[in-house]
Amino acid sequence: MKTSKVLRFLPVLIICGLFTLLGFALVGQQFYGSYTPRERTVELLAASEFEASQEADGGEEAAASASTAEPAAECLVLWNSREANSQLAQEDIQGLFAQMKVDADFVDISTDAVPDCSAYEYLVFALVDSSKLGDRAYEILDWVGTGGGLMVYFPPQGDYFFRALGTQMGIIESGWEMYEVPGFRFQTDLMLGGQGHDFMIEDPYESAHTLSISEDCLVHMVSADERELPLMWERDYGEGRIVFMNFGIMGKAYRGIYGAAYSLLDDAAAWPVINGSAFYLDDFPSPVPSGTSTYIERDYGLSVSDFYTNVWWPDLRELAETYGIYYSGMVIEDYNEELEPPYAANSNTQRFLYFGNSLLRDGGEIGLHGYNHIPLCMEGFDADFGPDYRKGTYERLYDYDYWASREDMRDSVSELIRFTEDLYPGNKPQVYVPPSNILSAEAREMLAEEFPQIRAVASIYFEGDVEYTQEFEVAEDGIVETPRVISGCIIDDFMEIAALSELNLHFVNSHFMHPDDVLDEDRGAEAGWEAMRNRLSEYMDWLYTAAPEIRNLSATELAGAVQRYYYLDVQKEITEDEIILNLSNFRDEAYLFLRINGREPDDPAESIRGGELTSLGGGLYLVKAEQGQVVIERGEG
Ligand SMILES: [Zn+2]
Repeated sequence: MKTSKVLRFLPVLIICGLFTLLGFALVGQQFYGSYTPRERTVELLAASEFEASQEADGGEEAAASASTAEPAAECLVLWNSREANSQLAQEDIQGLFAQMKVDADFVDISTDAVPDCSAYEYLVFALVDSSKLGDRAYEILDWVGTGGGLMVYFPPQGDYFFRALGTQMGIIESGWEMYEVPGFRFQTDLMLGGQGHDFMIEDPYESAHTLSISEDCLVHMVSADERELPLMWERDYGEGRIVFMNFGIMGKAYRGIYGAAYSLLDDAAAWPVINGSAFYLDDFPSPVPSGTSTYIERDYGLSVSDFYTNVWWPDLRELAETYGIYYSGMVIEDYNEELEPPYAANSNTQRFLYFGNSLLRDGGEIGLHGYNHIPLCMEGFDADFGPDYRKGTYERLYDYDYWASREDMRDSVSELIRFTEDLYPGNKPQVYVPPSNILSAEAREMLAEEFPQIRAVASIYFEGDVEYTQEFEVAEDGIVETPRVISGCIIDDFMEIAALSELNLHFVNSHFMHPDDVLDEDRGAEAGWEAMRNRLSEYMDWLYTAAPEIRNLSATELAGAVQRYYYLDVQKEITEDEIILNLSNFRDEAYLFLRINGREPDDPAESIRGGELTSLGGGLYLVKAEQGQVVIERGEG
């Protein structure tokens, strides 16, 4: 090229050069650009902050078991260990009451004498055959007449019950056959998000009585069919109240429905809640699967990689913006199958930076998923699942290789933390999501001992085959257990019920999904991303219409909310004019649900001392406690 030509093109070259520099700067801004981390809504507290009060309480279990030395509990549960249904109900109620912080005495009538119920405010009746109670059954009714609250937990059997107690409970007649409940619908606004939609049961069976009830019953829940069989009703009896569950289907996914029924027994009921909504993106950021997918190709004509950048992530960001969600992304460094150190660092970080920083700029959070996707389990992993777990079964279910030692697992997590902290210096990862929700007891212990920065583990809420199943609680080692309740884009019938139940029990939404849901036929890929996204959006719409007050939290914030919820206990006192809530283990703030049955406050905002009161409808209130005692003025009624 001649000098003159170079000179002629010089301005163009300069402009090109400038554009290149500008391009780099913009890309840099995108990748490394500064952002101000969102101020946390809830801070995690040091585990030690609660230790003293926990010891003083003697733990949850002691409080939930029968004891004569302690002052009388508020509730008496009558059950019979010789009846299968009663046994199931007893376990269910233990779980529910631990979550609602209800102090109850459980009396097994097959071995123990039925105590005098006048010492209790509420009684839960969980007996198949009530004839064993004899005349004590009439005493129970008399006690309700003087102001007691009686909940029949599942439909009892036998002539005796209907002869002695049925009429008083509002039952006019009952057929011999049991009724298969295809689903349920609410006739009142008892539950947040309960109306305007039928909730279908995946495996229904003949669980309810075919019966008719008197007109003075307030029916909350009926079967979701033409018959509209009453499944839950309340009836005033003398000074007291009876709540009857003619449903018969129990289990963790239904807890919130039983909790709502229990909250109807008195003029008011209060229990601590989490108040948090979290959406986890597992395997995000992670290396993008290379190549194309049939359905992405079909619908978009894009490579998988371009699809995530140009369609998937922009769509998710739009949903987040609409509903105020903060995603928690969980990093996988590499999809290799390396099980021995040294663990090679993934140097291909461009997409990690692009997606991760975009998520962080939107107020989200980055947590830990795995150096690779192999769950932290060693040979002999089945030992974690108790004596009932048959060896041989897990080998089929668990189709990964094993790690050889605790040190190897530890080093892989160290590498993941190094990788994540190098990429996102402003974000300290504190939440761990086990790959495939599988985590061995050894690894769980290792995480707590070796990585003090890991403050919470987020796995799943419902029992699976080999998964690490959790309650919303703080473990003895101080790690916060923050289970995910539902997942994916295709929210099925079971998940709808679970979401409804948890929204009304814990005031929580906890959902996870993966980028590769859209590639997986089992998770809805064939329907296409648009259908999947619409279904997810429909769920979000249901959630935030039912509970616009729920706080949008990141994974760490949710852990902080679970800490405050877990330790909190509430003692309620109802006087002529006031409802007084005395809280123990209160720290900086706490949330409670308060159900007021009749005589609701005239002006919620003005009717509370020690906190804030928000009406959620249907007699349900959200209490934000700002001190250890909260007083609510009752309305004229
Ligand atoms: Zn994963």
